[in-house]
Amino acid sequence: MSDDKLDVLRRRISEVNRRLLDDLNERLRLVNEVRELKQERGLAMSDPAREEQMMQELLASNPGPMTEGQLQEVFKVVFSVYLSHMERSARQGLRVHRREGEADRTVEARGLGIGGAGTPVLIAGPCAIEDEQQLRRTAAHLAGLGCRLLRGGAYKPRTSPYSFQGLGNEGWRLLRQVADEHGMAVVSEVVDPRHLEEMGELVDVVQVGARNMFNYELLKELGQIGKPVLLKRSFMATLEELVLAAEYVASQGNDRIVLCERGIRSFERWTRNTLDISAVPLLKQVTALPVIVDVAHAAGRRDILVPLARASLAAGADGIMIEVSPFPASAASDAEHQLDLEATTRFVEQVFGKRG
Ligand code: PEP
Ligand code: MN
Repeated sequence: MSDDKLDVLRRRISEVNRRLLDDLNERLRLVNEVRELKQERGLAMSDPAREEQMMQELLASNPGPMTEGQLQEVFKVVFSVYLSHMERSARQGLRVHRREGEADRTVEARGLGIGGAGTPVLIAGPCAIEDEQQLRRTAAHLAGLGCRLLRGGAYKPRTSPYSFQGLGNEGWRLLRQVADEHGMAVVSEVVDPRHLEEMGELVDVVQVGARNMFNYELLKELGQIGKPVLLKRSFMATLEELVLAAEYVASQGNDRIVLCERGIRSFERWTRNTLDISAVPLLKQVTALPVIVDVAHAAGRRDILVPLARASLAAGADGIMIEVSPFPASAASDAEHQLDLEATTRFVEQVFGKRG
């Protein structure tokens, strides 16, 4: 007799389980919709204030016999399981991921296309803008070689605070003026979101340096500017971390992103960093963004830049970055890998063929 009663109760519990399961599935469907909307709007999946509000609502409407403690225990688990699900799904459907059948994306800077079906670009110029003569000679020479993207650092993220730190805003004004004289676009690094306003019309492609790839607040700011972002891989970042850094920019609405492999730190000492050539095909497989390779900071020496650049293009890179100075030996930064003007001519011929 008592066994029958136990069976009845067990059947009723099973029915409650099924109803709970239906509700949990319904909750999951709703959570999926919330996740899609949040992703579209660039919002974080986790929202502790909203969780707290839901918990308070539940506590206020709990008729018992469940205790407050039990209710909190159960719903904390529910919230956390659904949050993990949202975060996992969000990572599987990133904005920067290549969509099924999607062709390579082109990023436009001052009318110049980077990526897509276009020919690979060369981004070149001094490591740091040092003075007018250095910049003028470099830009004139590069323009003569067909280079359309002039780089130069104005705020230099140097390892030592006592090393040359760059000319600051004056450097950008000089860079703009000289680039305009040759119809070139300007690529320069941002190290502080407070500089973005000053960069305004002066810089066409905003570079995020290896040291700032993990600066997520900076990346979010860059998601809100109307210009291309050249995102360098940190010397200690995995490819997934680089792709997620790009997603920070894209999540805020800016999908004009160029990825840049520039070598990662390894045990090897004959090069400054180790060029990770597999980054090129892998990044192009996972995203449709243009991928360029900075062979200069990868190698940290000038004698192997040509083969590294050739290897990068063979692997599918959409462009190459090098550093050029009329007087590399006396350069204020990165003297070891900057090419002088003659060596740059040879580099361009050997890597890109003669340009018209
Ligand atoms: C640069 O390109 O000027 C630079 C500092 O490079 P990285 O951030 O890759 O070290
Ligand atoms: Mn440099």
